[in-house]
Amino acid sequence: MYYDDLTSYEYYLPFKLPDVLNVGWLATDHAFAKADAPAGLLDRLQQILRAEGNFSARVNPIRGIHPCHHCGARQFQHPHIGSCEIWIPSQKAENYFAAPSLIIHYIEEHNYIPPQNFIDAVFQVDTTVHFDGQTVYDNLVQARMPAA
Ligand SMILES: [Zn+2]
Repeated sequence: MYYDDLTSYEYYLPFKLPDVLNVGWLATDHAFAKADAPAGLLDRLQQILRAEGNFSARVNPIRGIHPCHHCGARQFQHPHIGSCEIWIPSQKAENYFAAPSLIIHYIEEHNYIPPQNFIDAVFQVDTTVHFDGQTVYDNLVQARMPAA
């Protein structure tokens, strides 16, 4: 599924979540921004993706692995890549960034460069502060569901 960077999240939903911004939903038929990643970005993203317990950025896990449509890779060096989304709270506003966990592979192998405000959030997020991305997702979706 392709989404432009910084558009409102709507993956598999019948509505958009305006407080959640898409990052890194690349597709082979859309050009994407390329540049060398700032030092430490990949390590920091891997640390965020792996974090357990008080801080969890993993959202909507799937049983299998999404392959990379750019190179066909289906096995990845790091756990969780290709098998969930990664949600990161913005440090500047009351919103969130939502990326496929393949974003780590896209940066590492395909030279994709995410928007600067996402990079800032990755470096600024405090993984000692409680964050449960899945609960954030569930609550945002619930709030927009039409009353039964
Ligand atoms: Zn690839």
